[in-house]
Formats: sequence, C-alpha cells, structure tokens
Amino acid sequence: MSASKPTHPNADVRMKGFAQRTTVDAALAWLDSVLPPLTNLPTEELGLYEIAGRVLARDLTSQVNVPGFARSMMDGFALQGEATYGATSYNPLPLQIIGTCLPGTPFPRQVLRGEAVRIMTGAPLPAGTDAVLPVEMSDLDGETLRVLEPVSSGKHVGQIGEDIRSGDVVQPAGRVLRPQDIGVLSSIGIGRVEVVRRPRVRVLITGNELLAAGTLPAGYQIADANGPMLAALVARDGGQPILSDIVRDDPAAIGDALYADADVVLVSGGSSVGQEDHVPRLLAAEGELAIHGVAMRPSSPAGMGRLENRLVFLLPGNPVSCLCAYDFFAGRAIRALGGRSSDWPYRRVRVRLSRKLVSTVGRVDYARVIVRGDEAEPLAVSGASVLSSTTRADGFIIVPADSEGQPPGAEVEVFLYQ
Ligand code: AMP
Ligand code: MG
Repeated sequence: MSASKPTHPNADVRMKGFAQRTTVDAALAWLDSVLPPLTNLPTEELGLYEIAGRVLARDLTSQVNVPGFARSMMDGFALQGEATYGATSYNPLPLQIIGTCLPGTPFPRQVLRGEAVRIMTGAPLPAGTDAVLPVEMSDLDGETLRVLEPVSSGKHVGQIGEDIRSGDVVQPAGRVLRPQDIGVLSSIGIGRVEVVRRPRVRVLITGNELLAAGTLPAGYQIADANGPMLAALVARDGGQPILSDIVRDDPAAIGDALYADADVVLVSGGSSVGQEDHVPRLLAAEGELAIHGVAMRPSSPAGMGRLENRLVFLLPGNPVSCLCAYDFFAGRAIRALGGRSSDWPYRRVRVRLSRKLVSTVGRVDYARVIVRGDEAEPLAVSGASVLSSTTRADGFIIVPADSEGQPPGAEVEVFLYQ
C-alpha cells in the first residue's frame, strides 16, 4: 500500500459516519464520465454458433447480393411473362415444356418464345425467361403446358439483391445479435464476427459472519445471499462473473482481492462506516474512491471508484441494499462495458398507488411494490435486510429526491423485476 497517495476526504470514516452523501445524479454522472464508448471496448472474434446475444463490435457490410441470381419463388413454370398476355381458360396459350430447373443447377440453354421450363422454388431462372407461372394457373397436355391466366414479367421471381445488396451495412456496431441476425450473417458468407468482449466481473463477498452460499445457517453465522444474486445479475447484464471463496473482514485479504484479474470488482459488505468496514479506506489508499455515501435508501453506504483499470463498486452487505446499489450503479457500468444500453433492462408499467407512499425529501427511494391489475401496493415490511421483500415484490418505484412521496391513487411508473 502506498502511504504517499492523496486520499479521499472520507477515506477513513469508520465510526464517524458520513459527513455528507453524494446525490444519485452526481454519482451517475461520475460513472458515465468514466465509461468508455463502444468503439474503445475490447473485442474478440467468435464463430456463428457462439454469438447469440452478444454485441457486435463493428458495422458488418455485405460483399454479396442476396439473392445473387434471379430465382424462382414458387414451384411452377418459368416463361416469358409478356408472351402470356391474353391467355384465359377459354383461350389457353400452349407452350412446349423443354426441361426442368432445380435449385443449385443452371438451365443449360436459352429458352425461346413458345417454350417453358418446369421450375422449383429457389432454382435460378433460365435465360430467356422472366416470370414464373404457378402450377394452379395452368394445366398439362402431355409435354404441352396450357397457360390459363397471364403473368406479368418479374412475377414470382426473387430479383438479384432484393434481400441484401452488396455494400449494405447489414448489422450496425452495437447490435445485440438475435437468432435471425446470425442467420443473415451466415447468408452473406460471414463465418466469424468481432464482438465486444464480455466484461469480467469479480464478485468479492466479504464478511466474517458469512457461510458459503447455499449453506444451512447455524449459530450466529448466516449464509451468503449476495454472491449468487450478484452472479445472476452480472450474467443478466452481459458480464462474466468470477467467483471465489468468501473473504474475511481482513484488510490485507481484501486489499489483495481488489487486484483481481477483472474489469469490474463488486465488493459486497464492509462498505459503510463500521469498525470492520475496511473497503472504502483500502480503495482510497490504493486507487480512487470517487463516491462514498449516496443520498438514497436503501444503499446509502454504497460507493465506487477505480483501481488501476478496474471499476470498483462498494455494495452494502444488506441484500436489498446490495441489489439496489448494483442496479443503480454496477449494472449500468457492466452493461456499458459490454457495449449494451446502460438503461435498466426492466419493463415499465404505469399504474396507480393503492395506498400512500411516504418518502423523505433529500434522498431517492427505491420502493418495492406488488402490482395487482392496474394498482401498485407498496410493501409494508421493506427494511434493507429483508431480501424476501424483493421476491414478494413484482417491481419497484423510484421516488425522486425532491419528493415527499405520493398519495393514494397517484399514477406511478413501476419497473418490473425480471
Ligand atoms: P455490512 O455491509 O458488511 O456492514 O453488512 C450489513 C448486513 O448485511 C449485516 O447484517 C451482514 O451480516 C449482512 N450481510 C453482509 N454480507 C451479506 C451477504 N453476502 N449475504 C447476506 N447478508 C449479508
Ligand atoms: Mg460486514
């Protein structure tokens, strides 16, 4: 640890409390100011079977026309459209069938007036023809086709470049690749694609009182709820979670763990101003503690900063605070570092409050609600440690810092958990 480094004014706030808290807006502004643009993100090249849901790093341009040749869109007969003008069931036009045209094989000779070629969907149109007559508009008399209705030139023919033109940008940088996008890439002969590398996110769980995730709590020990929750959130946001054993509330151990081989370090626990809360001081001493203490509830002891090239998020150990601080700050950064929209992935609904929602002026509130029909009911039990409040809830409402809350019947926007 370098003792000479200038430290954050709040560097050692243990047992003194927060002097003042940063506003949510100021914390987000700092975060956005340090997030790189899409063009500066690290990339990797992957094959078509590995890129579903990944983010395209560069514009992709087609080098070919699709289709690359005029092709039949129906099973029927290739002929000259113009020659069929005037054909009716009372006065059918007879044409000589001179062969069959199948997909993948060109027809060997020019088709003349008075001739037609049996053709299958996807087959190249023979030279001398410009339209396809569907089977149901004809009947057969041996090898003579009788045209019962006219077809115009170009009818039932897929024209060169009709789907994709050579030189077109088929997918722009930043595109989150959907299955059909991958099909299109394949169709223009692109087999490997440069995508944004998924940010590597070290999930660092601290706390002497914690048992490994999924362990039955015993005595005064509690099971780690945040590790698996954060891993799922990171994966949802396009990051690659890196997990390891729980780290004790020991400055040396936490200090080492902060230097993870990762783009982002999420530290759960020890972020506040208690005696065992070492993380703020460590980050301030080793790197930059840009924000510590945010005017919001829950999650007021959240913080963030940088350590060399890593973004570090201090997430309070209380599970609801941990979830909320992740969603406000860390998730935004992970999505942006993976080239995704930094917006919340939550669907929004507008509903009315079934009862009053109280809030304190000067801080942002993250209020969990149950949605019933077109009404939202704020949860009564909503302490930061009551994680089941977030599973009982369908979503949350953000009450802005300048609001005292909302009366019953007020229209509110609910972000639905997913
Ligand atoms: P801390 O932020 O370390 O002061 O922890 C605040 C509260 O959250 C304490 O009651 C901790 O026991 C609890 N806590 C800390 N980490 C976790 C975790 N990973 N899972 C569940 N509860 C936790
Ligand atoms: Mg702790």
